[in-house]
Amino acid sequence: MEDSSSRPSSSILERVRLFASGKCSGESHDSAERIEITSNTKKADVLQNGDQASMEVDYPDFTVQDELSSVTLIIESHKLYVHREVLAAWSPVFKAMFTRDFKEKEMSEIELPDKKLDDFVELLYCMYPPIKSVSDSNVHQLLPLAEEYQILEVKKKCEEFLLTKPGSIELLVTAQAYGLQNLLTKCIQHARYRTFADLQKDPFYKKLEMGNLIRILELRVLDLETSMEQNKKAANERELKLYGFLNDLATGYGYFCSECKSRRVNDTCFNCLKMFREKVKTKFEEAKAYRSSHPCY
Ligand SMILES: [Zn+2]
Repeated sequence: MEDSSSRPSSSILERVRLFASGKCSGESHDSAERIEITSNTKKADVLQNGDQASMEVDYPDFTVQDELSSVTLIIESHKLYVHREVLAAWSPVFKAMFTRDFKEKEMSEIELPDKKLDDFVELLYCMYPPIKSVSDSNVHQLLPLAEEYQILEVKKKCEEFLLTKPGSIELLVTAQAYGLQNLLTKCIQHARYRTFADLQKDPFYKKLEMGNLIRILELRVLDLETSMEQNKKAANERELKLYGFLNDLATGYGYFCSECKSRRVNDTCFNCLKMFREKVKTKFEEAKAYRSSHPCY
């Protein structure tokens, strides 16, 4: 490993070439592969894999012109020097813009009036090596742009990142906005186990599309019907069992009485009544234990 600060940076397109050939992975490579500085890069501190060790990564500086940059994007009065080929390789929207008869085809400067500079630079970091990872800090910048420019790879990475989060209604709303099907399925599964009252209290509840709300409620009704059926069955079994305990008492048979020599409860014999009282207590304890081990919901 060599010190990255002493390693010469390569031009943006050279980095793309090295990345494509698998030689630009951040590790040191053969000196023959090194390219002299032809373009500036700027350093950014990033946290890798969530650990606390920050490492410096050189991301391209798009504000500095590269001798091969072929188009200039103007966002919030700032110029970003980029390459048609790179943008077109990632985005069918840019590809159409640069190849079909759009007015942008011949233009060397394209203004993107409704875009934010920081958001667009984040998107470019995900298109130029070293490809930046999706994180909490950039996912909501990347998604709308990846959607607008149909950059499926970036969209997929955003979805993979969001799938590592616990399901929520907020994420469900994001999934429905950008058509992220796996995330949508996960969040609907999360929502089906919440009570309807709880769901309605969620700040994102009102943003649920009707179709998704219906899907959640359908699943919830099915779950409730299944648990109602199970409870009905359990309640019937419990009733039968408790009825059995009462029946035991009602039939009134005691034990052979050593005092009056009777095999049935003799209500004129103190010993018979005492034995019967013991039996009532025992049956009551049995019924109580049964009830607590077979609760109804
Ligand atoms: Zn007796």
